[in-house]
Amino acid sequence: MPATLTFYGAAGEVTGSCYLIDTGEVRFLIDCGMFQGGREADRKNRETFDFDPRDIGFVLLSHAHIDHSGLVPRLAAQGFRGPIYATRATVDLCEVMLPDSAYIQEREAQQADLDRRRARGKLRYEHAPLYTVVQAQASLKLMRGIDYDTEFEPHPGLRCRFLDAGHILGSAIVEVVLPGRSGERIVFSGDLGQPGHPIVRDATRIREADTLLIESTYGNRCHKSMEDTVNELAHALRHTLTGKRGNVIIPAFAVGRTQDLLFLLARLWQQQRVPPLDVIVDSPMATAATAVTMRHASLFDQETKTVLAWLRDDDPGFRVRFVQEVEESMALNARRGGAVIISASGMCDAGRIKHHLKYNLGRPECSIVIAGFQAAGSLGRRLVDRVPSVRIFGEQIAVRAEIFTIGGLSAHADQRALLDWLGELRRPPRQTVLVHGEPLAAETLRQAVISTLGWKPLVAARGQSIALGR
Ligand SMILES: [Zn+2]
Repeated sequence: MPATLTFYGAAGEVTGSCYLIDTGEVRFLIDCGMFQGGREADRKNRETFDFDPRDIGFVLLSHAHIDHSGLVPRLAAQGFRGPIYATRATVDLCEVMLPDSAYIQEREAQQADLDRRRARGKLRYEHAPLYTVVQAQASLKLMRGIDYDTEFEPHPGLRCRFLDAGHILGSAIVEVVLPGRSGERIVFSGDLGQPGHPIVRDATRIREADTLLIESTYGNRCHKSMEDTVNELAHALRHTLTGKRGNVIIPAFAVGRTQDLLFLLARLWQQQRVPPLDVIVDSPMATAATAVTMRHASLFDQETKTVLAWLRDDDPGFRVRFVQEVEESMALNARRGGAVIISASGMCDAGRIKHHLKYNLGRPECSIVIAGFQAAGSLGRRLVDRVPSVRIFGEQIAVRAEIFTIGGLSAHADQRALLDWLGELRRPPRQTVLVHGEPLAAETLRQAVISTLGWKPLVAARGQSIALGR
């Protein structure tokens, strides 16, 4: 029996990353991610796994983002008992993110229960959380931290390695070499970062693969350059703080984007391109993620290390205030100007950012800087689309603040970067499979790979299996 690989998620879409490899001797997963975005995703998350969690020997986790790690607690709750291997930074981030994910689900379940009771049985939908905080914590006990570039054997003769993916702290390309004569080398790109992305080192260039899985999130897009992006950010800060004397509000994902922004702000300060900044991070999750990030400073790229050394040695006065208590957060509502407030959620639909928008959107001297992806239907997207007013906490608020949309901070490689990364392989893989992309993005990348490299990649479909080994 040849070994097989089956795509259970992030096939024809960008969330739910989960691939099962069956060598005949052992079955294991690469990622066990949550599907995200609407009711259909919720349905898929609630389906029973297409395999028996008790039969899975171990899990290899590419990084901590919930669409790659979010169903790990459910897997463990349904009988999986093996080790979960990930880089040390990924394990640390999961300790913050998985219990938080569980907490959000528990709260939503309580709310749904309340709604159901109010509707007197007229609403029929499942409302149990996918997993509880207790279950999330239990699954964390299975995690084993592994250093980058270090070979380990989760099963006799089966060799694995994590290599830099340049996407977020701890993110990895996963390399697996199957035992036996074929020695099939399987490489999963994980989520690949755009070269030059703040904080993390650029993705490792892979030279060899027999079976290659590559993400295609932005297979049909080219990002704005980092230089243009930073210029726009500097302009928004100067214009608002010095010119209009208002506040700058930046909605940002707690993990990754918040730390990227802190680094960019420090560097702009170092380059004396902005006035002295009063930076406030108002999100307990972002505070925890920043603490984890600082514990892994050895993983930073050279540019980040240089800025940190300057902050430490020269002490130029750059301070970031991390707000924990609700009272302290509420006190910020009275700030009239001079503050740079970074808060979550990244798409403005939940969390403390909604309060900051409520108090600053109506004031023309303030600015909102949108630095991340805003899904259709989100409050953030309506701001990007320049609607005249929005509803926050039941109150209609006119949008008088300026909205700056700065692109180029995406944590995913664009088409050019994906093709460059593929172009580093010494010879074409026997099979290349495009995963983790909407159909249009994946198909556009497939055409680009055919025309530039002459390879014939496949776009993965959910539930599809491919043979591994000759
Ligand atoms: Zn990711």
